[in-house]
Amino acid sequence: MPLVPMRVLLDHAAEHGYGVGAFNVNNMEQIQAIMQAAAETESPVIVQASRGARSYTNDAYLRHLMLAAAELNPRIPIAMHQDHGNSPATCLSAVAQGFTSVMMDGSLTEDGKTPSSYEYNVRVTREVVKAAHAKGVTVEAELGCLGGIEDGHGAGLSAEAALAHLTDPAQAGQFVADTGCDALAVAIGTSHGAYKFKRKPTGDVLRMDVIEDIHRRLPDTHLVMHGSSSVPEELVAIINRFGGKMPETYGVPLAEIRRGIQHGVRKINVDTDNRLAMTGAIRKVLHENPGAFDPRDYLKPARAAMVDVVRERMVAFGQAGQAGGVPVVSLDEMARRYGGR
Ligand SMILES: [Zn+2]
Repeated sequence: MPLVPMRVLLDHAAEHGYGVGAFNVNNMEQIQAIMQAAAETESPVIVQASRGARSYTNDAYLRHLMLAAAELNPRIPIAMHQDHGNSPATCLSAVAQGFTSVMMDGSLTEDGKTPSSYEYNVRVTREVVKAAHAKGVTVEAELGCLGGIEDGHGAGLSAEAALAHLTDPAQAGQFVADTGCDALAVAIGTSHGAYKFKRKPTGDVLRMDVIEDIHRRLPDTHLVMHGSSSVPEELVAIINRFGGKMPETYGVPLAEIRRGIQHGVRKINVDTDNRLAMTGAIRKVLHENPGAFDPRDYLKPARAAMVDVVRERMVAFGQAGQAGGVPVVSLDEMARRYGGR
């Protein structure tokens, strides 16, 4: 089937009480890995690309790879999402490239690192909502700021600064009403990248209570968890066993994500775990076979390692087995629904 509006996936997830993983891509192997895991587990799926990914793939390669993914997987509902759009122009260029969902991250100014004002955030988000909804495209917005500026996602503060910019639950309702966004990314102490927490996170740094508070106030709003890789010890260990040098680090435990899903979280962003899996697999092959020089020798195991991570997440988030139940809604139909509101 053609790529579907992300809103359709989130509505179905809310109705049936599960979450949908949103996995970042930069190349063919990552897209293939996600689609293989989705096909094996019959999962609806969100594939997302950051500004960096769009520039890396020059948009056109990415667009055609996604068309291939849809063509080869006619029974899997796939949404294509712009991760952290820094301006209305970025979001609208994504829509022009066939993305079925965009994130307008107006929590930061256009430079992607300076916290903005509430008024700025509402203004740019509304602008994107108006233009995107006219084409049936979904809009994710963000209130509060995430950490992880070093990651190359092009968004985020230092982990310490991020804790000072948690989403204000009291402001969330006004923000959703002011912007008309379809989904709300919340800042609860998570950061982008591999270095989220220096010890196993407890409730003072990973503020799941903020999600619960927002969900109590806004039971019908789809919430999004960013920076939600779990950074499994065993994946870091493989990298370090085969010549890597990653310091001790902790991510967001799967149990905490499942707790979020019970409280309105419908989209869970995962990137780092897939990067770790691929890098570990590549290091292992090159370490064990110093003579290897065919890229397929290490890209195949890298792709397989990513399939394992994505499959595990799809099962943990509850999206496995849901693909067949998601209603088929075109962008045109979605635009009509938005227009009828
Ligand atoms: Zn993010």
